[in-house]
Amino acid sequence: MAELAMRFYSNRSPKKGYSWETPPAPIPESEIAETVTAEVLVIGGGISGLAASARCADRGLKVITLDKNEKLRALAGQIAAVNSRIMAEKGIHIDKKTLAADWLKMSGSRVQEELLWLFINRSAEGFHWLLDLAGDSVEVEVYEAYKGPMFSEYPGTHHLWKKKDDTRYQHRGGGYLACEILEGALQERGGTLLRSTAALYLEKDADGRVTGCIARCADGKLRRYQGTKGVVVATGDCSEDQEMLEAFCPIGARAAAKFPRPGNTGDGQKMLYWIGAALDNPEWAPTIHALGGCGFQGFFLHVNRLGKRFMNEDTWMQAKSVRCMMQPGGDYAWSVLDSKYLDEMAERFDELGGQGMMPLSEVGGHFRREHMEQTMQGYIDKGNAFRADTLEELAEKMDVPAENLLATVKRYNEIVASGDDTDFGKRARLLTSVEKPPFYALKWGPMLLDVFGGAQVDATLNVIGADCRPIPGLYAVGNAAGGMYAVDYPLLLNGNSYGRALAYAMQIADTLCAV
Ligand SMILES: Cc1cc2nc3c(=O)[nH]c(=O)nc-3n(C[C@H](O)[C@H](O)[C@H](O)COP(=O)(O)OP(=O)(O)OC[C@H]3O[C@@H](n4cnc5c(N)ncnc54)[C@H](O)[C@@H]3O)c2cc1C
Repeated sequence: MAELAMRFYSNRSPKKGYSWETPPAPIPESEIAETVTAEVLVIGGGISGLAASARCADRGLKVITLDKNEKLRALAGQIAAVNSRIMAEKGIHIDKKTLAADWLKMSGSRVQEELLWLFINRSAEGFHWLLDLAGDSVEVEVYEAYKGPMFSEYPGTHHLWKKKDDTRYQHRGGGYLACEILEGALQERGGTLLRSTAALYLEKDADGRVTGCIARCADGKLRRYQGTKGVVVATGDCSEDQEMLEAFCPIGARAAAKFPRPGNTGDGQKMLYWIGAALDNPEWAPTIHALGGCGFQGFFLHVNRLGKRFMNEDTWMQAKSVRCMMQPGGDYAWSVLDSKYLDEMAERFDELGGQGMMPLSEVGGHFRREHMEQTMQGYIDKGNAFRADTLEELAEKMDVPAENLLATVKRYNEIVASGDDTDFGKRARLLTSVEKPPFYALKWGPMLLDVFGGAQVDATLNVIGADCRPIPGLYAVGNAAGGMYAVDYPLLLNGNSYGRALAYAMQIADTLCAV
């Protein structure tokens, strides 16, 4: 057993010399101001922590939730639910087995299938519960899924909005509204949410049961927080810790840009590792969206920093970023188009809509010609795009070798004329020539958003130790938990991270109610 666990990253594996491998020294008892005890201690009050806390409180458990941030951070617009009642009303259905098979393919099969099925089977239940908590205050849309030959999305992406006349909630929609609903539900059910309270490390009793954590509180004091039924780690990802990225998600460490916000620093993964949890195998799955520069690529000709075509442009934006990263420099690429681009987009609107094929603000909506024109002008004004009357001038502005760009465009136009992309296999419908000035070049590049990987958990969300056995009292949810993602973030069902948070909330409450 123990030998098996050595294959996973655990505190029994040989040390690699990363600073996070060394646990902090225990704080002397004399410095701990007090001990606060509940039945369930949840560390982290983002979507997963709030969902877990609110669901446990809803089931009658006494909950304390700690969050190190002063304010809620809930960046998301989309919530996935597999076969929700809203989908049923619209006659939309996902074949769960096909979704699972596609997910496994995209993850290089490096996932725990039971966790994937936990999401697939319980995300709708979690989403319905969220809607029921909000009652009449909210409304939901399900967007059409994108289907193309290179990739297809599943149609379970929900958008949550508060109703226009609602006065119960502050936030208009998306992740902030979802979290506001959960936070309200937690507090209405007697739960306690303490912000500006950072967990520093976990504690065990003499029998090896995890009892709680030591945290630095808003008043600067150190306190011990305990959960008699369980301690749930929900501290999010490690995208702001460069050393953890190098260890578990090297490609994430190489992304040229990071989403501009204070992200998570892998506190949960570290605390879990120090207490003896087995962490997921690398490669942890990053979200590296092509949001750098313009953040829009479309189906137009893409060229690298040498002015050469390098991919079938008919794919989703994470695939685009990663392929861009495989190019010389790896930090940005260009979409090259000409004065026909508005007509070309309008004509193909029914085939677009996948992320990266439209500007993000338009995904799921309608093509608005004037809006796209303004968007393009905005890119130019910000210096992320160029307009030129000749390709030579455009090449100069892009700082790519003009002879390469000219040769690339010539070859691409030949392919367009023939209707058969023998170089990269793009479908004929999306082959549009680059011939009518003015010409445009849009710069875009990879941007790291989140990294999906953490402690190994079983289907009850109990954390697994280096000895391959569940660690008593210790649970993990959200990005602090591993197992459901690997290699690459599967945008095949957008909003799956929020959907997972709700599905796992259902499970963790079942688990802790049974303790
Ligand atoms: C721009 C952007 C857009 C996105 N859009 C979507 C989307 O539309 N749909 C979707 O599903 N996902 C989306 N995501 C991904 C999604 O936001 C995350 O995957 C999700 O928030 C993970 O949930 P979590 O609860 O694990 O972590 P988080 O939501 O990050 O919450 C973790 C919480 O733990 C707290 N914490 C950290 N360390 C400690 C500590 N030591 N002590 C106490 N508290 C601690 C943090 O303050 C934080 O509040 C998006 C991400 C970005 C960046």
